[in-house]
Amino acid sequence: MKTVSELLASIPTGLFIDGEFVDSESGERFDVLNPATGEVIAQVANASPADGARAMDCAAAAQEKWAATAPRVRAEILRRAFDLMNTTYRDDLAMIMTLEMGKPLPQADGEVTYGAEFFRWFSEEAARIRGDYFRVPEGHIQAIVVRRPIGPCIFITPWNFPLAMATRKAGPAFAAGNVALLKPSEDTPLTALFFAKIMKEAGLPDGVLAVLPTLRSPEVTGPLLQDSRMRKLSFTGSTRVGKALLKECADNVLRTSMELGGNAPFIVFEDADVDLAVQSALMTKMRNMGQACNAADHFFVHEDVYDEFTQKFAAAIGSQTVGDGLESGVDVGPLISERQLNGVAGMVDRAVESGARALTGGARIEGNGFFYQPTLLVDVAPDAEIMTDEIFGPVAPVVKFNDEKELVRMVNEDTVGLGGYFHTKDIGRILRLAEQLEIGMLGVNTGTISNAGAPFGGMKQSGMGREGGKEGIEEYLETVYVGLPAPVFD
Ligand code: NAD
Repeated sequence: MKTVSELLASIPTGLFIDGEFVDSESGERFDVLNPATGEVIAQVANASPADGARAMDCAAAAQEKWAATAPRVRAEILRRAFDLMNTTYRDDLAMIMTLEMGKPLPQADGEVTYGAEFFRWFSEEAARIRGDYFRVPEGHIQAIVVRRPIGPCIFITPWNFPLAMATRKAGPAFAAGNVALLKPSEDTPLTALFFAKIMKEAGLPDGVLAVLPTLRSPEVTGPLLQDSRMRKLSFTGSTRVGKALLKECADNVLRTSMELGGNAPFIVFEDADVDLAVQSALMTKMRNMGQACNAADHFFVHEDVYDEFTQKFAAAIGSQTVGDGLESGVDVGPLISERQLNGVAGMVDRAVESGARALTGGARIEGNGFFYQPTLLVDVAPDAEIMTDEIFGPVAPVVKFNDEKELVRMVNEDTVGLGGYFHTKDIGRILRLAEQLEIGMLGVNTGTISNAGAPFGGMKQSGMGREGGKEGIEEYLETVYVGLPAPVFD
């Protein structure tokens, strides 16, 4: 494994345009911080609108040839990229994510597995794109349905899963024959640039991918969304920014995939295996320091098992080791930024002022970096802000319930519906809730559901479209219907 300084020296810090790493035409750069120390670890080129325009020209020039490239050739490039991510650059990618984002190294390694899998999955899908051929019901037209690439795409991604949020979009887009411009989060540009380096090594033709880190996101992406050659935006991030981007996309009537904020309930029914529920609650709440869109956000526990669950959950949370994710044995790293830390701390403080009690944790950790104690709150009001808003931190508020119908009503009042979890042994209840809850992804008796082969996405203000699964590639294909006179038989 490389040392930190060897690794940092191996990461490109220019913009990736037309297969080369280049400076911004403005010459500007910006700092990338390690949230565990608050120190600057790199400076990367700051893309300007002119850089965005050049990347768009190069992408548009590459589109036709890439679309015409044999699916098997595209598939093999994706497969090579999977192998490079999964083996040669596995440790590098994991350490880069820990350095710029803070997640503990084993979790970063888990993200490499998850992120790389989208390239294996979609390398397999690339060779299986199919149209259709049928007679219309009246019998006079023979229909041919052609599937073809949608055209140039722009990806805007968040900081919490810097590799996987890029590969979940790039995998299906490239498999289907589209070119793409990636604008990563300003907090985590290094992973995206290293990903570009891997794609180049895997043989991706110049121009098919551009990576544009910038502190000037709206100025750079605005004109790209208005460009008449652009065909699609795939965005992962907050509901607030997603709504603003949807409005921008309206002018150009761009196709959109929106992977927005979540606020996942975690429900423990009276017949649950409580120890298993504690184990999966801990996993889905503390993973990524609670900064996952499908993290269990808040907890509803049936009154019959409430005392047992909260005691065991408090003990489990209290035993988490907090620290720099590069150190071994660390369970919970820093939050991404001081702003995020202040947001989480403020939410807990307001909940406690309104009567909630911290069974464990409840305060920030003073010193370098942006650390918050893993926290369990009880006596929380069901309509408290900490229940209704996405926390994005290692904080678990718990509410007691006693009636399934009332609980479903309460959960469905939420304006978002991305992930949800429940523990029960009742198969009838599992099937019932799968149809009743307004939530796109449900984990039943497990806290781990993300998988490249399964459709990821939410309902309501959690967005639209699905990533991964057999649905994923559909988002990147255009449909053309060709009608011919049906053959006549004498
Ligand atoms: P964010 O919305 O603040 O930023 C996301 C991206 O949008 C970043 O690259 C940012 O630079 C960019 N951006 C912000 N304003 C912009 C603008 N006006 N024009 C163009 N680009 C702009 O979100 P975040 O803080 O990076 O990520 C956290 C959020 O992402 C949470 O709400 C989380 O639930 C959500 N998320 C959702 C999923 C999902 O699959 N549904 C996955 C991960 C994260």
